[in-house]
Amino acid sequence: MVIKPKIRGFICTTAHPVGCAQNVQEQIEYVKANKTELEGPKNVLVIGCSNGYGLASRITAAFGFKANTLGVMFEKEPTERRTASAGWYNTAAFEKAAKAEGLYAESLNADAFSNEAKEEAIAKIKENMGTVDLVVYSLGAPRRKDPNTGEVYSSTLKPIGEAVTRKNLNTDSREVSEITLEPANDDEIFNTVKVMGGEDWEMWMDALAEAGVLAEGVKTTAYTYIGKDLTWPIYGGATIGKAKEDLDRAAKAISEKLESSLKGKGYVSVLKALVTQSSSAIPVMPLYISALYKVMKENGTHEGCIEQIFGLFYKEMYADGTMNLDDSGRIRMEDNELDEGVQSKVAEIWSQVNSDNLDELTDFAGYQNEFYRLFGFGYDSVDYDADVDPIV
Ligand code: NAD
Repeated sequence: MVIKPKIRGFICTTAHPVGCAQNVQEQIEYVKANKTELEGPKNVLVIGCSNGYGLASRITAAFGFKANTLGVMFEKEPTERRTASAGWYNTAAFEKAAKAEGLYAESLNADAFSNEAKEEAIAKIKENMGTVDLVVYSLGAPRRKDPNTGEVYSSTLKPIGEAVTRKNLNTDSREVSEITLEPANDDEIFNTVKVMGGEDWEMWMDALAEAGVLAEGVKTTAYTYIGKDLTWPIYGGATIGKAKEDLDRAAKAISEKLESSLKGKGYVSVLKALVTQSSSAIPVMPLYISALYKVMKENGTHEGCIEQIFGLFYKEMYADGTMNLDDSGRIRMEDNELDEGVQSKVAEIWSQVNSDNLDELTDFAGYQNEFYRLFGFGYDSVDYDADVDPIV
């Protein structure tokens, strides 16, 4: 099959297995080139392992610290006529590379919110790793079925309190126009917290603890974004921000339970904004990220998923010395994004940008290039006219 990108709004419905493998390989090479001698995790569970920050976490653990990894993901399998989703191909490439280095690497394609996925993961840990000393929680999901009641909750991306009008970029038509987002009602806020808040993270940690598969000194982290003024009304101060606040509550609850029994700890890690399948679905974010990339690339401070997670593991979670924690105990990895100089330049671009000067004022080209790469497209080394087998 000759595989070309098929973009539908903010997602690409095809993925290229060779390009996805290239994406994984480049991240592996980054970790190998930058790693230093540090004691790190040895047996790791990554929930949301196949794309974005979760994939980068798995790659850093395996190729930085030689960790065995079990991953949980929700991806589409390939058929003779249809490609798999990118995360499927990423995971196949990751497993092949990790196994070639003698590491245990297995992945469950299952709904992480279900009790069955937790039971299956526990059985795999018992069989292959005994215990885990790091649990990374990196889900980006639009809905969640509560495993105990069967009720399905959907998240919404809406402001809270009053309607918000903001510049927005239609990434298909390249048009910059204003959109107005109506405020969420109480149910929508509650449902978003149900999906993207800390409840499921806690359920995972409780199930793992109860099954006796957490090692002494275990660490766990979930990922969040906070942002500043430009994104606050649609992120930090919006429905998704409320869900992320709930992660802080969950981290405290998890830490309290782990500290007494296992000397373990739960952290919320704050990461920078970048292009992933999840962030491209958030209104306003593509324009913000395009402007941010322009400024941070000019400053020489631009980072992608692998640089952020490599820094999180090597400079914070497993480094000797004190961690860069904020007043709420979160690990902060996005200082360079929130830097006042950077934010004021992004704000200046924001005030001037329109459909005509988009390419000149922002790095929309870089945004688009990264977006294509999420699905394995846009690599010079890959022959996109070649016939490839979608079954991997
Ligand atoms: P992503 O879309 O790249 O990856 C999401 C992962 O979740 C995939 O591996 C997918 O398979 C998995 N997943 C989704 N639903 C699932 C389910 N029901 N069961 C099992 N697996 C499921 O997302 P991302 O952008 O890397 O986001 C990961 C986390 O990082 C999120 O909590 C997000 O809020 C946070 N974060 C993202 C950004 C950003 O700019 N992208 C910034 C800071 C924090």
